[in-house]
Amino acid sequence: MDIPYKIYLNEDEMPRAWYNLRADMKNKPAPLLNPATHEPMTASELAPVFCEELIAQELDNDTAYFPIPDEVFNFYKMYRPSPLVRAYCLEKELGTPAKIYYKFEGNNTSGSHKLNSAIAQAYYAKKQGLKGVTTETGAGQWGTALSMACAYLGLDCRVYMVKVSYEQKPFRREVMRTYGATVTPSPSMSTEIGKKILSEHPGTTGSLGCAISEAVEAATTTEGYRYVLGSVLNQVLLHQSIIGLETEAALKKYGIKPDIIIGCAGGGSNLGGLIAPFMRDKIKGVADYRIIAVEPASCPSFTRGVYAYDFCDTGKVCPLAKMYTLGSGFIPAPNHAGGLRYHGMSSTLSQLYDDGLMEAISVPQTEVFKAAERFARVEGILPAPESSHAIKAAIDEAEKCRETGEEKTIVFGLTGTGYFDMVAYEKFHDGKMDDYIPTDEDLAVGLSQLPKI
Ligand SMILES: *Cc1c(COP(=O)(O)O)cnc(C)c1O
Repeated sequence: MDIPYKIYLNEDEMPRAWYNLRADMKNKPAPLLNPATHEPMTASELAPVFCEELIAQELDNDTAYFPIPDEVFNFYKMYRPSPLVRAYCLEKELGTPAKIYYKFEGNNTSGSHKLNSAIAQAYYAKKQGLKGVTTETGAGQWGTALSMACAYLGLDCRVYMVKVSYEQKPFRREVMRTYGATVTPSPSMSTEIGKKILSEHPGTTGSLGCAISEAVEAATTTEGYRYVLGSVLNQVLLHQSIIGLETEAALKKYGIKPDIIIGCAGGGSNLGGLIAPFMRDKIKGVADYRIIAVEPASCPSFTRGVYAYDFCDTGKVCPLAKMYTLGSGFIPAPNHAGGLRYHGMSSTLSQLYDDGLMEAISVPQTEVFKAAERFARVEGILPAPESSHAIKAAIDEAEKCRETGEEKTIVFGLTGTGYFDMVAYEKFHDGKMDDYIPTDEDLAVGLSQLPKI
């Protein structure tokens, strides 16, 4: 059967339930711990921070399928199913016998997969009768996705945006405001933790860890608000399983069996979602795949971090999570432009990696932008720098096939578009981008601050 350039599912072929990979994991991810007592967090302890149904999803290691609520499904239909694209042009450019597919999540205004979880989280907040939600955003994709979801459902949305991005990415900020969100540069004077961070580090341009602390404080001190997070958490991986389930259905439609599945990894949500049904089959022993996480060499949590309990935020107000981490004090070098800058990694993926069920590699940023440009020129799409980590790894695997003559099938996640990342592209084009890779001494600083559990 000829494989079309784009494989679309019909609406009636779209998945109607999210899949919870934890239900099939033999070794479950480690629980979140209360930072004071070091006991597993209970639902009632989490209730001041998160929405009730999301807490239930977060703590549920047993239920395999969660039906997608009708209202969320209807929203999905505005921009899903997303296409699974056969990268015929890239294959030709590489002269490879490999067959390359990518699942493209950039076809919505937020420009990334983050909308898949934003609408789910906003829906449960609305259902609980809340007035609004708070969150942090780094580069701005998550804040944009959440603003869109909140606008649709009539919820207030307050975004703490890492100050350096707030200043460098005014367009992202204005997209969020277009959707009605309030955007505050972080650290700010509007929270106690923001004031503390500013007094200790005057002039700081902020970090994701600081912005998380501020957003959590804002949620827990404002009546009718809860905090939502766009990555890392189990619930986010659950919602993102829509990516993997659609990919699985599209591949099945044409009898395609992948050999290698590749995704970029920041906090792990797109990768966790993409691989979910494939990892299920791998765990059950009914299929085998190579699964590869790709991270920046300048923020290498899987490849150079340690598997330990750590703080999720700089202000240390969040529960402790066991994950591959560089330490909550780790901040990538200032010239790092490729996103994926969180110090830790999803505890679900961390457990799978520790169990040897997936691989991880790190790639330097100039190589990532080279791959991005090569991809853009033949496939048309202008990829997000984050997504381009996966492109780089897919190209490398396809080039290996060219050497060996193997006709492997490679599937990778193309998480989004890079229209708001042109300053990074500019640096690359002007030869002003370099590859600062942290030394062991650099990493030792963050790792020395891990909590003792
Ligand atoms: C946020 C983001 C990522 C990384 O987040 P994960 O949770 O690791 O998936 C990757 N690509 C794009 C386009 C993003 O916006």
